[in-house]
Amino acid sequence: MSVVLYCGDPHSEFRHIVRAAEQLDASAVVLLGDLEPMRPLHEELASIASKVWFIHGNHDTDSDANWSNVWESRLADRNIHGRVVTLPDGTRLAGLGGVFRESAWYPTLSTPPRFRTPSEHDAATARWDGWRGGRARKHWSSIYPEELDRLANLRADVLITHEAPGYHRHGSEILDTLAQSMGVKVTVHAHHHDRLDSSGRWSRQGFKSHGVGLRGITAIDGEGNASVIVSGELDVQRNHRQRYIDL
Ligand SMILES: [Zn+2]
Repeated sequence: MSVVLYCGDPHSEFRHIVRAAEQLDASAVVLLGDLEPMRPLHEELASIASKVWFIHGNHDTDSDANWSNVWESRLADRNIHGRVVTLPDGTRLAGLGGVFRESAWYPTLSTPPRFRTPSEHDAATARWDGWRGGRARKHWSSIYPEELDRLANLRADVLITHEAPGYHRHGSEILDTLAQSMGVKVTVHAHHHDRLDSSGRWSRQGFKSHGVGLRGITAIDGEGNASVIVSGELDVQRNHRQRYIDL
């Protein structure tokens, strides 16, 4: 039995992930962003490093230390933002890290994207507003239209995003469109610290959507069957958000 674990916003806490991965002998461990490791990511996850894949979240660019512990870690090449990898069980896993920001692109607004690519944003940033010669550090976790367009041309079984798709009141319909273009059967997101039941919408949207709560862990197979391994810390308090679901 091959278990793939999907981990909601760790926010600096990784021991529960290592413990669950070891106990269940997981074949892959997928982190859904907002990692904020207090030391380089490969040190936090040393004993399970070979199984780890991740995307970044908005908080992973909050400080130079957060950025460095993710993007300069020896696990930096396990960031699957904007690409597809094949897990040991054969699942093709696609990733879209980061969040939509109005100062880059906010698809639910009628205003056009301010920048289509990170490099356009780099080039338009004044030196005193920028970071390391390019756009501000926080925009390393902004999403640009070109990144979505590129992913939309790829095929995958599971799409992980930090932002929620359209079922969530604070989610984005454009991620439904992305999932549909890629032909994915399953999407998994974090960011909102919710684990809501969106199954009433699955047949209409054409894929199964799952959220993983704050520091929660859910095992999900390639068909989208989910079992909760560790409940999110706010899963009970956030249950009232079930009404946030747009069916
Ligand atoms: Zn987040």
